[in-house]
Amino acid sequence: MSLVATPALARLRARFPVPEPTRVLVHGGTCGDAVDVDAVMRRLRGSLGERASMAVETACDGACWAAPSATVVRPGHRHRFARLEREPLGALLECLEGTCDDAYAGSGARGLLARVGHLDGSLADALAQGAYLALAHAVTRKPEEVIEAVQRAGLSGRGGAHFVTAQKWRLAAANAGPRLLVVNAEEGEPGVFKDRHLLEGDPHRLIEGVLIAAHAAGIARAVIYINGQARNARSAVDLAVEQARDAGLLDGSALGGAGVEIEVRSGAGGYVCGEESVILNSIEGERPVPRTKPPFATDRGLFERPTVINNTETLCVATTIFDDPPPPTKLIPLSGAVPRAGLYEVPVDGVTAWSGVLAAAGANPQRVRALLLGGPSGRFVLPEEFDAPLDMRGLGAGGVVVLPLDADIPRITRALAAYNARESCGECTPCREGTPRLVALLEDAPANRERIDALIEVMTEASLCQLGGLAGKPVASALALFPQDFEREASR
Ligand code: SF4
Repeated sequence: MSLVATPALARLRARFPVPEPTRVLVHGGTCGDAVDVDAVMRRLRGSLGERASMAVETACDGACWAAPSATVVRPGHRHRFARLEREPLGALLECLEGTCDDAYAGSGARGLLARVGHLDGSLADALAQGAYLALAHAVTRKPEEVIEAVQRAGLSGRGGAHFVTAQKWRLAAANAGPRLLVVNAEEGEPGVFKDRHLLEGDPHRLIEGVLIAAHAAGIARAVIYINGQARNARSAVDLAVEQARDAGLLDGSALGGAGVEIEVRSGAGGYVCGEESVILNSIEGERPVPRTKPPFATDRGLFERPTVINNTETLCVATTIFDDPPPPTKLIPLSGAVPRAGLYEVPVDGVTAWSGVLAAAGANPQRVRALLLGGPSGRFVLPEEFDAPLDMRGLGAGGVVVLPLDADIPRITRALAAYNARESCGECTPCREGTPRLVALLEDAPANRERIDALIEVMTEASLCQLGGLAGKPVASALALFPQDFEREASR
């Protein structure tokens, strides 16, 4: 089913000017900042002279490898120019005059990423590119019908736990209001940068997802909790919330719906702050440590109110539930030994495998020792698995580091274990004492193998949250898959 604008959305769109169809989108954001995209922008605007306003700053589009980059947009055409710090701008300027073909190498399927890196930061541009279309239809349906659509779409938590989203919304909706929504935009794991791209590049998609969830679960107030170091993301979301409020999207006057107030908070920092109940404590001004469960947040969460906690990507996927069929994709932040590191939107369709993802990133699987999937809470994936279809639950939050043939697996494993020891909040004994003990035992893993296995079992079973509960996972994976590496190191 292809959605068309409702009368209310058509009226909202008519209040805004239509953006210029021909322009140069200069990809800034955190990726561009790291490689002085401002210098490229100055050079480009200088070359454009009187037409300098055609150069518009936008976010990274997921092609992090290409930064600093720019995309020339003409009606029906997109052409990306990469690594502009060392390239002359002549070809780009000629392209603007219509001399180039459509040559935009996107990062995969581009459902969620469709607008990321292609917006000028205005609500007008977001609306022109389809923002709030799903919300316009959601508010014409009963809340339970929206939850059923979410269920049919098979939406599960994209933060890694993959809890069924419809069930979470139903559990909260069954409790008396006022109900709250917390958006987990902490994303503190090393090697994961998917939510940051969504927040910087298309914040209105998140707000639309929040408003759909609010309508479905009867939410009165939402808090978007963003990693304290993600300053560009915070600015983009602050601006988008203000634009949405001014346009009447939050109070329901523009498109309908009961209305929800949205507040934006910056996180306290630290890996453990991505844990759901830590976020609740952090927002309440308490120590950032996990809460014991039950009670679950959907019964008694933020300020003792029934609370839905959803990850950024999850709520962004909620804007696609009326697509037929909904696109089963996962955002994969890919880094390490690949020519084109960046954010990939990967179909999870029973066909696509790691080999396809690696090919998209320009990697030769023959030159890859393994993938590290899920960072300090994850596992290693051997080349033997590269042709197996991807499984949504097995992807966790999706962060992947590609390891080259000469990767020092024991050193990497110790670094992961040390990271967990550093990030332990100290609240529970198995993790507080166990994570540094694991680091020490890894100094001679073959000799300590039995003690390592026993310690991992205790940490997995008895830790209060998943930081400690999963801290042994990459260690167990490395010891199982690469025993010869540890033996070789121990014999030196
Ligand atoms: S598992 Fe680690 S991070 Fe989690 S509560 Fe226990 S000490 Fe803190």
